[in-house]
Amino acid sequence: MASPTRTYPKDVDVAIVGAGIIGAAAAWNLVRDSNLRVAVLDSGPRAGGSTSRSAAAFRHQFSSLSSIQMSLISGREYRDFSKTFGCEEVFTQNGYLFLWSEQEAADQAAGRVAFQKQSGVPDVEMLGAAAVREKFPWIDHPELKGASWCPHDGFLKPDLVASTFLDAAVSKGALLLQYSPVTGIEVSGGTVKAVVVNGRHRIGCSTVVNAAGAWANSVGKLAGCPMPVTPVKRYLYFTNQIYGHHVSKWPLTVLDLEAYGRPEMNGLMMGWDLKPIKPAGWDRFPAPDVDTTKLNDDIEAGFGIGENDFGFEVLMKMAEWIPMLGEKAGLDHATCGYYEVSPDEKAILSRDPRVHGLVHAVGFSGHGVMHAPAAGRMVADLVLARPPCVDARAFALDPLLKNEAREDPERMVI
Ligand SMILES: Cc1cc2nc3c(=O)[nH]c(=O)nc-3n(C[C@H](O)[C@H](O)[C@H](O)COP(=O)(O)OP(=O)(O)OC[C@H]3O[C@@H](n4cnc5c(N)ncnc54)[C@H](O)[C@@H]3O)c2cc1C
Repeated sequence: MASPTRTYPKDVDVAIVGAGIIGAAAAWNLVRDSNLRVAVLDSGPRAGGSTSRSAAAFRHQFSSLSSIQMSLISGREYRDFSKTFGCEEVFTQNGYLFLWSEQEAADQAAGRVAFQKQSGVPDVEMLGAAAVREKFPWIDHPELKGASWCPHDGFLKPDLVASTFLDAAVSKGALLLQYSPVTGIEVSGGTVKAVVVNGRHRIGCSTVVNAAGAWANSVGKLAGCPMPVTPVKRYLYFTNQIYGHHVSKWPLTVLDLEAYGRPEMNGLMMGWDLKPIKPAGWDRFPAPDVDTTKLNDDIEAGFGIGENDFGFEVLMKMAEWIPMLGEKAGLDHATCGYYEVSPDEKAILSRDPRVHGLVHAVGFSGHGVMHAPAAGRMVADLVLARPPCVDARAFALDPLLKNEAREDPERMVI
């Protein structure tokens, strides 16, 4: 679909592959903080990948310091976003509630809450079963043991965030080249030299940022650097609008770290971490060989299509905890997209040790929307050789290429 008449630059300093929320945040941070010539390339439209298919939840409630720090940085930026860029509000802070039906899980959650407070998260707290029922009277489950709760969490508008970052970057001189698939990355003497668009347009550059989400492995391979990132299909299920209840005010609610739901207008958007199951070998390098050219063909629109459609199961689970849903909610439609999963389900924000000038911002494993502002800053730190805003070891690529554990692993993955 690349226009044959479009003019491409002969060279830039940084070519960012992917105009999703991560490429967008990276572009903005780079042009804001430097005079580098930056081009953002996407094979499709801006934010047309996972960014537009996301539940877009935001939370501070993680188990690792580095993830919490990514949330603290990003949360500040998201709260100020409309002021910074003069756009509408992108962050709905309805809060985020983890519910637990096992005492052991509730006790572990209490330990994490103490750690989150100590790490600088404001107002996160543990609620006992009675406090949950009082504060959220629509929730009722006989096995409820407690909850962790943070009122400053919530959910975002990812398309608007990505578009706003991109527009701001373009206004400062970045080039946005949509419908421009990167089909080659030229490497010579172990150093990045150029990207090739659509097999014929060469754009010289000294840095390539791989921000290609679920396509990260394919893009890495263009430079001879396969990446430990696997596309994993994830569905979102939407109920009808529910009258007589203020669903739009509900927090994002997670049941035993599996099924979750959050308002979408006055209905519920729901998801499930456990199904469909991840492809075998997703947690090792090299990653499973997925044909990423077919990913967008495998996005099923509508509801009730496809063997992996688990909407009714998720709704039934939600109704076990929120009995009103059993009477008032049906399934309206479903969407799906891809998580871009790394072997430890934590992002890779790293220079590539195999090729000079190749930087990766990939593998966000279900957390890319919430952490995009910090990720964008981290990309700029890496490209501009500044001290990283968060401990870089937690996001390094090198250990994953050796199938070794990284520093500061994360346990609260959904
Ligand atoms: C169902 C679902 C629920 C989710 N829920 C949450 C959530 O609650 N909270 C959260 O933070 N995250 C969530 N995520 C994850 C989040 O959406 C992603 O982590 C995030 O969007 C990643 O952004 P990205 O820019 O890296 O990828 P993308 O938005 O996928 O962008 C990558 C871009 O690269 C482009 N590209 C690929 N190959 C090439 C090429 N060769 N040349 C040029 N361009 C190329 C693609 O066209 C695409 O536009 C969810 C994801 C899904 C699918």
